[in-house]
Amino acid sequence: MSIKVTDISKVYGTQKALNKVSFEVSNGEIIGFLGPNGAGKSTMMKIITCFIPQTEGSVSVCGYDVVEQSIEVRKNVGYLPEHNPLYLDMYVKEYLHFIGGLHKMSNNKLSKRIPEMISSVGLQMEQNKKIGALSKGYKQRVGLAQALIHNPNVLILDEPTTGLDPNQLTEIRELIRSVGKEKTVMLSTHIMQEVKAICDRVIIINKGEIVANETTAVLQQQGRSETIVIVEFDKAVRVDDLKNIEGLLSAQNTSENTWKIASADGKDIRSTLFNWAVANNLSVLTMQREEQSLEDVFQKLTK
Ligand code: ADP
Ligand code: MG
Repeated sequence: MSIKVTDISKVYGTQKALNKVSFEVSNGEIIGFLGPNGAGKSTMMKIITCFIPQTEGSVSVCGYDVVEQSIEVRKNVGYLPEHNPLYLDMYVKEYLHFIGGLHKMSNNKLSKRIPEMISSVGLQMEQNKKIGALSKGYKQRVGLAQALIHNPNVLILDEPTTGLDPNQLTEIRELIRSVGKEKTVMLSTHIMQEVKAICDRVIIINKGEIVANETTAVLQQQGRSETIVIVEFDKAVRVDDLKNIEGLLSAQNTSENTWKIASADGKDIRSTLFNWAVANNLSVLTMQREEQSLEDVFQKLTK
């Protein structure tokens, strides 16, 4: 297990930011950590990366306890904090050298590792610039490079794509996906699409408590008692005929020969529907299951 969080609570003064949060992340997984602003995402990530202590509970990373064995945890974790704090006056290579030094990497080792990192995050063209002169997308690449410099097993990325333009967004997502092939990644976001694009699994947190911990596919079916199929026939159909179909809950004519068909209990009615059409001398022009959007699920769970 890469990350094991057990009954974590965090209280700031009088405010409870996390309440008995537990979850696990396996080796090599890419987890989306989702929740509205103030849900406790950054707090959880700061605890996992030894930046702040928890009030109660325990966290281990690669088998090391964040309180008792924080040096070992730091060796195993790369962290890109929210708002990516960088020294804008430093040159890209100078900064990576500085961060490598904090990890006690030798000059010799860094003279090989820094060019490797620059190439793997795609900073070649910008490598001789000051960080302050880089666009936001390239600053994020520097942030990823510093998180990866000591070759950690686990990467914690706090809203790594917030504020990027659509092109930068795609590039950084691609980069995270490729890094994720070799490492365990936990990334926070409030963009559902992002989770769908990159993550194996999503953990949703709301007001300091976990409200979902599922694969994106399972999550999309959650909270829905009926399954919707959109079907288009080649000819007009009467609603009374449709109602004879076994398992059909309701049928609604949405446009000319197109129907929105609901079936109960998640039953997949598509083959029944198809056979019925054939038996009634109708052609099915299109037929597809209507997916509940992840945004809908997110809103239901965090309202
Ligand atoms: P998220 O990252 O999901 O937006 P945070 O973990 O930053 O959420 O915050 C969770 C809650 O804890 C919020 O209500 C926030 O105001 C509060 N909080 C975060 N940091 C501090 C702090 N240093 N002192 C007091 N309250 C804090
Ligand atoms: Mg945050």
